[in-house]
Amino acid sequence: MANIQRAILEWYDQNKRNLPWRDSKNPYFIWISEVVLQQTRVEQGAPFFHRLIEAFPSVDALAAATEQEVLNVWKGLGYYSRARNLHKAAQEIITAHSGIFPSEFLALKKLPGVGEYTAAALSSISFNKAIAAVDGNVIRIVSRLLDLSDPVETSQTSRTITEFANEILSPSRPGDFNQAMMDFGSMVCTPKSPSCASCPLASVCLARINNTQHLRPVKKPKKKPINRFLLFKVHLQDGKIRMIQQQKGSIWENLFLFPFDEFSSETAFLAKINQESQVINDRAIHILSHQRLHYAVIMTQEHTPANSEFWFSRDELYDLPTPILVPRILTRVENQLAPLF
Ligand code: SF4
Repeated sequence: MANIQRAILEWYDQNKRNLPWRDSKNPYFIWISEVVLQQTRVEQGAPFFHRLIEAFPSVDALAAATEQEVLNVWKGLGYYSRARNLHKAAQEIITAHSGIFPSEFLALKKLPGVGEYTAAALSSISFNKAIAAVDGNVIRIVSRLLDLSDPVETSQTSRTITEFANEILSPSRPGDFNQAMMDFGSMVCTPKSPSCASCPLASVCLARINNTQHLRPVKKPKKKPINRFLLFKVHLQDGKIRMIQQQKGSIWENLFLFPFDEFSSETAFLAKINQESQVINDRAIHILSHQRLHYAVIMTQEHTPANSEFWFSRDELYDLPTPILVPRILTRVENQLAPLF
């Protein structure tokens, strides 16, 4: 264990990535970076980290903002529940912790949107607590080091990985060690082409010895995404477009979207498209993590008053918190809109 720990830290000291949040142990900055990087690559997330820190330089500033302001800065990053939880957690830090970041793993884990991994990363990096932060990188590295052949999602295998990650963790440099594992997984023990020939762990890695590194980690087959069929209605009136703020429970909760009809089957969706004379272009597909949205767009005059509906000019629309689908749809209807909008 000591050999693995030393090899990882030596590698990190020579090769660590120069990331914008690495200069600081400030828990607020570390927290923002960890939440931004959930389900997002470093290259894509780094500009959003800067945007958030600039807009909300402290936990007080984030808590004092409205949810709409937070969603607006988050716009384009997707998985908006992360932004909503970030905002709720900031408010909880102000009300329940007098504005001071909790340092204990269990207290951190109680904050909205903070799971085991984020709590471990925060408590180790900012507060030097010896807890392994087990993310996809750690799962991959450990499953290869131990050559685990059972799916990593099973409770026994998951426990084995967490225990091993805690055994090799450096008690004196836990934050560095956790970040070292993230970098090592991104740069050396990568998902598709691990650099085993130059890897400092090669002599102790059972998967390399057994030549199974490309088969690890073993994962359960993914669930098929749900197909949804949507017809979006772009309704322009007096130079403004009608938008609906999405309700609680929607994947787009509190974001603004064009009104739409949803169809229970592809047949019903296609029948509706074929009936409509105002359909813009062909149907398109927008892929989310668990949903595949098949959609088409029509220009419409139909107006059924709905709750939470608003009208916006072009400039106002671009400043609204919207899912990435809205600018995509606007691009598709640009030719029709341009003369009027
Ligand atoms: S030897 Fe290869 S598979 Fe094993 S830890 Fe190193 S890079 Fe990963």
